Amino acid sequence: MEITRLPVEGYEEVYKATDPGAGLTAFVAVHDTTLGPALGGCRMWHYSREEDAVTDVLRLSRGMTFKSAVARTGLGGGKAVIIGDPKTEKTEELFRAMGRFVHTLGGRYTTAEDVGTNEADMLNLREVTPYVSGLPRIKGGSGDPSPYTALGVFLGLKAAVEARLGTSDLSGLHVSVQGIGNVGYGLAKQLKEAGARLTITDVHEQRLQEAASELGATVVGPNEIYAVDADVFAPCALGAVINDRTLPQLKCKVVAGGANNQLAEDRHGEALVEKGILYAPDFVLNAGGIINVSVEFMPDGYNEEESLKRVHNIATAIKDIVRTADEQQIPTSQAAFVLAQQILAEGRRKQDSGGAEL
Ligand code: NAD
Repeated sequence: MEITRLPVEGYEEVYKATDPGAGLTAFVAVHDTTLGPALGGCRMWHYSREEDAVTDVLRLSRGMTFKSAVARTGLGGGKAVIIGDPKTEKTEELFRAMGRFVHTLGGRYTTAEDVGTNEADMLNLREVTPYVSGLPRIKGGSGDPSPYTALGVFLGLKAAVEARLGTSDLSGLHVSVQGIGNVGYGLAKQLKEAGARLTITDVHEQRLQEAASELGATVVGPNEIYAVDADVFAPCALGAVINDRTLPQLKCKVVAGGANNQLAEDRHGEALVEKGILYAPDFVLNAGGIINVSVEFMPDGYNEEESLKRVHNIATAIKDIVRTADEQQIPTSQAAFVLAQQILAEGRRKQDSGGAEL
């Protein structure tokens, strides 16, 4: 295996690994370990260009730093990407090779599932390195993080609705959900149980139809979801869905969903404010999964009760961010970023003073 270090400003460590025998081309980015060792999922995706994989691993690892900071997981931000089609190019040897790559970082980066990877892949990685989290419960891990992500999104969405619409009662509220996968489906189910009316979309036709009949939801095409006259829009599929093309179509009053990096650019946070739409910042709202994984690192190991208690704090975090944004007359996206920076600065001060409490 050949491992090359890539110098990237603002990142502690970035590496590329190639192992032609195992079919591996992968990147690991450790963005910031001020608050603890870096943790973030390992994505497998058929990037058409290597530059796209690098952009993704950099963007996602930075997001993990902010997500873990605000959720106070005691972890830093990192991420890994494997270039390849998760449907056709997965082999056990590929993930063992990825495990050997992760192991070379000596625990400064711990991996987990992400888009395109699952618990079985993590078990293959685990054969060659201990720096893997999110393993199945029977193997002593915290299991699939997505139910905790979906729970956190639901609780945070409720807090955002209360802040914008003055009620935490979701009955009769109309929510449009983009992407009915692990997180989107889990969210939609809880919304339905709380009495909300649902409009859903997905590019996976069979999954969409099954979810629609189970949830009694209205179905629209993937390009029609933005213009749905809903109270809340919940992006749970892709990043950059709040952009110059989609913004003029939005009729909702709240944007609150599980997808990472929902704003195409920072300025789109301001554009949402101008339209009177309250944005629940993605990296605060979707932290339930990382919170659940982080409990694995506590001295007594994984404990579901502790995890659920911490996931419930997401609602409080959303309320605090909305309050700060109101007081300082800034977009919620900026208020969340400022909060993450403050927590990181606090961590750096502690490090500089040798770990003593300030
Ligand atoms: P998933 O793959 O299970 O679900 C994504 C769904 O979106 C799929 O059903 C897919 O068909 C659909 N989709 C893809 N493109 C679409 C499009 N253009 N229009 C409509 N639907 C489309 O993934 P997931 O685990 O549910 O994650 C969803 C999002 O949440 C991702 O952005 C992920 O990064 C983020 N996220 C997930 C977790 C987690 O714990 N799983 C944690 C934090 C953030």
